[in-house]
Amino acid sequence: MSRRSRLIYSPDYTKYYFHDEHPFNQHRLLLTHDLMTSYGLLSEQDIVPPRPATDEELALVHDPGYIETVRAQGHSETELPQAASYGLGTEDVPCFPRMHEASALIVGGTLQAVDLVMNGEADHAFNPAGGLHHALRARASGFCIYNDCSVAIAYLRKRWKARVLYIDTDAHHGDGVQWSFYDDPDVLTISLHETGKYLFPGTGNVSERGEGSGYGFSVNVPLDAFTEDESFLEVYQTLVPKLARAFKPDVIVTQNGCDAHAYDPLTHLSCSMRIYQEIPRLAHRLAHELCGGRWIAVGGGGYDIWRVVPRAWTLLWSEMTDQCLEDSPLPENWGKRWRDKSKLPLPTHLFDDVQPFPPIPRRGEITQKNRLILERAMMYAPLG
Ligand SMILES: [Zn+2]
Ligand SMILES: [Zn+2]
Repeated sequence: MSRRSRLIYSPDYTKYYFHDEHPFNQHRLLLTHDLMTSYGLLSEQDIVPPRPATDEELALVHDPGYIETVRAQGHSETELPQAASYGLGTEDVPCFPRMHEASALIVGGTLQAVDLVMNGEADHAFNPAGGLHHALRARASGFCIYNDCSVAIAYLRKRWKARVLYIDTDAHHGDGVQWSFYDDPDVLTISLHETGKYLFPGTGNVSERGEGSGYGFSVNVPLDAFTEDESFLEVYQTLVPKLARAFKPDVIVTQNGCDAHAYDPLTHLSCSMRIYQEIPRLAHRLAHELCGGRWIAVGGGGYDIWRVVPRAWTLLWSEMTDQCLEDSPLPENWGKRWRDKSKLPLPTHLFDDVQPFPPIPRRGEITQKNRLILERAMMYAPLG
């Protein structure tokens, strides 16, 4: 049994804040931290506060001109003329005060997680503020300013010479991370996501496999809209262990966006809380089997901040710390503290009662389609 896990956390993470109407809202971390604490899963010694990433660290992935512009924009009253060319000041990524500092703290949190795990102070570490997988080298995108996943992987390659398995189960394609390591055979990126046919960012087709010596080391499984637990888990549990065992990573990085849930307002997958128990369970097992336990988890998408995110990431933390949770009523105090602030009724239990979910009429067809896509995804994958 391992209790050597660390949560990288500070209420300062909520300074990454676009505006009141924006769907990306880090206040979800306050709810999550409170739920973990209310369950008795978290003590003060488990928490490590994040440090800001340095410019040099950010530049492992990001363009120096972009970093300079993000910083200057966050200290400017008016929109800078060059901001738009870097994807800043859009509907998805509006500018806000001190945006560089808020974003660099999230990246530093993920680097903190990397260092704790790689120098052996922790077996596992979780930075729930991270997972900003859409940010590109010189462009903000999809609510993401700096890509903490990409910076952390580049840092793992450079400082720790590690071979990295990246598993992204956010409902959106992990495009920024994929493009950062598209030609690198020492970084295997696996992304399971809703098909990009109707969903941002539109990429993540099964034919995106990497390039040059990295060919085969980008694996994508675009799932059909309305995919439910069983089909999602069938794909995940078939694909990930095979690839992981063949690739033999030194460390596993998981992006744990929880926007594949049926409640999520931005996507069209139809999963329940069950997948958020199974996803980290398998990653955890593989980390012990293949990497001496080295597992770094980050957050990601999750736009039902009241009903989905706190439960999903509490389940992740319970798995990471071997404090397995059965379905149970949520702690009363947690509900009391937050129910008046939420516009929707809060869930009463840790897992969803899936009976009241409307049945998906095309279930059989969707399952078949996902199986075919899975077969195609595995066709050129590096399976030894
Ligand atoms: Zn463990
Ligand atoms: Zn997402």
